[in-house]
Amino acid sequence: MKLISVVVPCYNEQEVFAESYKRLTETLSQLDATKYHYELIFVNDGSKDNTLLLINEAITKDNKVKGINFSRNFGHQIAITAGLDNCKGDCAVVIDADLQDPPAVILQMVQKWEEGYDVVFGKREERAGESAFKLITAKWFYRFINRLSDVDIPLDTGDFRLMDRNALNQFLSMRESYRFVRGMIAWIGFNQTFVTYDRESRFAGTTKYPFKKMLRLASDAILSFSNTPLKIATFVGFATSIVAFIGILYAIYMRTFTNNYVEGWTLLMISILMIGGIILLVLGIIGEYVGRIYGEIKQRPLYIIKDKIGF
Ligand code: UDP
Ligand code: MG
Repeated sequence: MKLISVVVPCYNEQEVFAESYKRLTETLSQLDATKYHYELIFVNDGSKDNTLLLINEAITKDNKVKGINFSRNFGHQIAITAGLDNCKGDCAVVIDADLQDPPAVILQMVQKWEEGYDVVFGKREERAGESAFKLITAKWFYRFINRLSDVDIPLDTGDFRLMDRNALNQFLSMRESYRFVRGMIAWIGFNQTFVTYDRESRFAGTTKYPFKKMLRLASDAILSFSNTPLKIATFVGFATSIVAFIGILYAIYMRTFTNNYVEGWTLLMISILMIGGIILLVLGIIGEYVGRIYGEIKQRPLYIIKDKIGF
């Protein structure tokens, strides 16, 4: 018997929880019961609504359901990690609670897994019900990060994926605090493949990824997978030095060979402001990395679990 663990991060998902649980159970019970059994792990990421209550209810009725309750909101990527840390499966599937990723696709993923793939990710063909802004930013983001970084993160994928135990253990051995799960999984390698699906619109409720969280995810992705911003900083510093050097030659020339050396106030102001701006920008980039070094070096646990239910 192979155990399939399904990890579902939940943050304020009371509107979708019941339906999500129902559809996941329906799908997973279609698996051949002589070959597979499953566990369903809901991670309550510090929800402020009744999500925890609903998870607890499901646990009392269904012994396949387990719950991890965080002490506060730690974020989607950390919630996924906690679920995976605590699952026992021969493979694990991560799926969003909002039914944007159709549970039925899990069956196709399991099939691919049986064909011998270590990681099967869901690739979005169509995305219904997303704002044009989100579609555009997501599209360009993936192309941008792939140019910057040394790992190839598959285009148009999210965190909906299946991992074999072996690949999963490798992923879990990476304990960095700034986590961009898709990138980390691309980084571990192994035999990876995908199944395509149409991403549906959210079953109910609203997105739990406001612009601020999207920005944080994007900067975690870029800064943890690439030193290119640092190289850009060096390049910009180098380019301004060249301009500054030309300016110095010019100033000396004007002072020595002409009489109009009081002129040039405009140029002076421009260069002071420009160089000041560039220095701050470059410092900011370096600061982002230093901040992350600080964050990593504290070696805090990635998350704090208030209680584990049903384990
Ligand atoms: N989520 C979470 N913690 C957060 C934000 C989101 O666990 O701080 C969960 C959320 O409940 C959902 C999944 O992550 O299951 C994806 O979030 P959402 O659907 O809101 O993101 P979107 O699909 O809009 O990008
Ligand atoms: Mg969603």
